[in-house]
Amino acid sequence: MKYCSDCGSEVELRVPEGDDHPRYVCGTCATIHYQNPKLVVGCIPEWEDKILLCRRAIEPRYGLWTLPAGFMENDETTQQGAARETLEEACARVEVGRLYSLFNLPHINQVYLVFRSRLLDLDFGPSRESLEVRLFREHEVPWQEIAFPVIRETLGLYFRDRTQGEFELRTGDIVRLEGGVRRYRVSIHGDRAETRIQAA
Ligand code: ZN
Repeated sequence: MKYCSDCGSEVELRVPEGDDHPRYVCGTCATIHYQNPKLVVGCIPEWEDKILLCRRAIEPRYGLWTLPAGFMENDETTQQGAARETLEEACARVEVGRLYSLFNLPHINQVYLVFRSRLLDLDFGPSRESLEVRLFREHEVPWQEIAFPVIRETLGLYFRDRTQGEFELRTGDIVRLEGGVRRYRVSIHGDRAETRIQAA
């Protein structure tokens, strides 16, 4: 951020009095511009024993597969956002069900919320954001071509839970590690907690 969205003057990055985080503060009108994490909301659209994935038509990770998900908008609920993203990316209509996973991604200031959802019909297809949209059985999932670690983790947990016939809310953290090679520390919370280092 360079300029104040209230008055147009330059802002400076500093820790305001009584605060403990650096903020963009306007030198003219003194407005403090708080920046907080963004919510990414998405679906696992289910049809019989298959799930729907989209192959990205946009950067980042052009050409790789992902669940329909995107930034939540103002004036909508998380469920509405997840359904909207599914319609936009996959041209698919879903009935959004239970929240399945919550992942913190502090290195990019995002929180991912993914809902299980029921695909209402098979009338789906590519969109401006997706080159290809299709249903996958578990053994067909292109694990080496999944766009984002958070999606790979979510799908991994999902199929494990489905095999065991029990879906609970799964939560975890994915943190990118410093250094040249892209690596992440994945921490899954809960009864079956685990932490491991994962290459991208
Ligand atoms: Zn200002």
